[in-house]
Amino acid sequence: MRDLARLPKAHLHLHFTGSMRPETLAEMAAERRVRLPDALLEADPLRFRSDERGWFRFQRLYDAARACVRTEADMRRIVAEAAEDDAREGSGRLELQVDPTSYAPFVGGITPAVEIVMDEARAASARTGVDVGLVVAASRMRHPLEARTLARLAARHAGDGPGEVVGFGLSNDERRGDTSAFAPAFAIARRAGLASVPHGGELLGPAHVEDVLEHLHPDRLGHGVRSAEDPRVLERVVDEGVALEVCPASNVSLGVFAQAQDVPLRTLVDAGAAVALGADDPLLFRSRLVAQYEAARALGFDDAGLADLARASVRASRASDAVKARLLTGIDGWLAAEPADAAARRA
Ligand SMILES: [Zn+2]
Repeated sequence: MRDLARLPKAHLHLHFTGSMRPETLAEMAAERRVRLPDALLEADPLRFRSDERGWFRFQRLYDAARACVRTEADMRRIVAEAAEDDAREGSGRLELQVDPTSYAPFVGGITPAVEIVMDEARAASARTGVDVGLVVAASRMRHPLEARTLARLAARHAGDGPGEVVGFGLSNDERRGDTSAFAPAFAIARRAGLASVPHGGELLGPAHVEDVLEHLHPDRLGHGVRSAEDPRVLERVVDEGVALEVCPASNVSLGVFAQAQDVPLRTLVDAGAAVALGADDPLLFRSRLVAQYEAARALGFDDAGLADLARASVRASRASDAVKARLLTGIDGWLAAEPADAAARRA
């Protein structure tokens, strides 16, 4: 078996605060004399119920973590460490998702908040070799007019160079908010050439996926894993060329599936869906990018199948053509090289 940390790949589903190392969060909390909920300091992955109470608990912990992030230096550290951690896991392209609203009060508004993240993403790309792009995300819990403001901000910073904004997302509890009310925000983003990358089809099933397809015209769906429950919806996802950002550890932590073996990755791939594996919120799920590929391996994907998943992640990314070509060549090289255990047996 080949080393999955050396498999070049693109990481398309990772949230800003959710990417934090637990040690970094603990340090920031200590500096600010904030008492973190015990659950955030546990070593084991957190488990939540898949209902609204479970989501509420998840959100409360997430908010507690976010409340420790209060300065430009904190924001820069999060981006820098996300890129470093991705580099260690073979990611050559990271599309980091950030909702600048929460950090805006500490740095003078949403525009400086986004510009700080962009600036550090550019610097981190140069330092680590991971090409970092950004997704600006709005929240379903807030007014759709706020989403439009964020979409206009994202549009002003659109580009495929390091640190630039490549997509516009919509996150938070899928059960909340009216999906169609966010359509104007996504139209603004699309006109600016940004990818449409809303969440959908994790907490809710195929009907929600259709709702998102109908109104937000996604290029990629955050999760979308539950399209597997309706062959007709899955066929539509495939026909419309919508890639799925599947995050097995997130699905299990949020109680969507009892265990990683239940994630219908094989059904999605066999139907022809482009799947990009992602870690979502490693801070809470205690599982980073390589672990998602390990989950796929445990589901029976061999090295050729894992290389195909990596290729799909690169193709579904908004990296420049040059970066994509470099990563795809790297994937061919990974698969062509002899696995370490085979080499050891021969020696
Ligand atoms: Zn997410």
